[in-house]
Amino acid sequence: MPAALRVARFADGARFFHALLAEDGLVREVEGDPAAGFGPPGPPHDPRGLAWLTPCVPSKIVCVGRNYAAHIAELRQDAPMEPLLFLKPPSALLPPGAAIVLPRESRRVDYEGELGIVIGRAARRVPEERALEHVLGYTCVNDVTARDLQEIDVQFTRSKGFDTFAPLGPCIAMGIEPERLVVETWVNGSRRQSAPVSRMIFGPARLISYISNVMTLLPGDVISTGTPEGVGPLCPGDEVSVVIEGIGRLTN
Ligand code: ZN
Repeated sequence: MPAALRVARFADGARFFHALLAEDGLVREVEGDPAAGFGPPGPPHDPRGLAWLTPCVPSKIVCVGRNYAAHIAELRQDAPMEPLLFLKPPSALLPPGAAIVLPRESRRVDYEGELGIVIGRAARRVPEERALEHVLGYTCVNDVTARDLQEIDVQFTRSKGFDTFAPLGPCIAMGIEPERLVVETWVNGSRRQSAPVSRMIFGPARLISYISNVMTLLPGDVISTGTPEGVGPLCPGDEVSVVIEGIGRLTN
């Protein structure tokens, strides 16, 4: 495929399909999936009337904690010597446009805008210098977190794992270089986070290699690479968007 293609996934009634996003706002259906790759685009569709889905269906979402120095400082914690990993369950996935549910167990639910890496080729113990060969593309993730529960639990499973706590999308952007991307989060039209992903402590190649030494990364799996500074709470009715230019806008 040529560079900088953006593939989203839609439902038309009971039928699910991937489609290329075009600059004119139309979508063009493509055959394929993250494992097989995508075929040539078909005729244009008007996306109105289609339901947006998450652009892939990961077997697991591997998240990285404390990966930006300024975010570590705002949490008053120490920088890790190695990547700090945790998992979000696939049941937490939420497509673009759908509502995050603030659970009754928490009094403080935060947004965390993050760059997501989508795996295209299975990765098991891959060296860092070959790690990027396993990337299909990049997406936006909101690592929604029940901050109060995170502070009292030893593990992050509960605080990060509620249903709807893994908004993902709007698309997989392929053929882009992540180094120059900037992650932003907007709440009700005001910008709350903005940081170049180059400020990550552990970059994409290091993360893929490190994680693949623990667990096999499968096509469609997502690595959420950590959030920069500026995290904050969400209130009922808020509109939150994770925006990465070159990928798109994930609004919930
Ligand atoms: Zn996070």
